[in-house]
Amino acid sequence: MVAVKEKSCLNCKAIYFGDKCPKCEETASSDSFKGRVYIFNAEKSELAENMKINSEGEFAIRTK
Ligand SMILES: [Zn+2]
Repeated sequence: MVAVKEKSCLNCKAIYFGDKCPKCEETASSDSFKGRVYIFNAEKSELAENMKINSEGEFAIRTK
């Protein structure tokens, strides 16, 4: 059995499981991200705007 680790996309910061980002399809990712936010309404969210996020979902606050 393989333990699947959560990863954060280095391109759009989305948190996901699997081989590639479900949002932007980039494979560059980090499993040492810090913090997480859930964006519900990206168009009206100041936080989403600050983080340059334009879709709903879970995102890492900081990736490295
Ligand atoms: Zn992505």
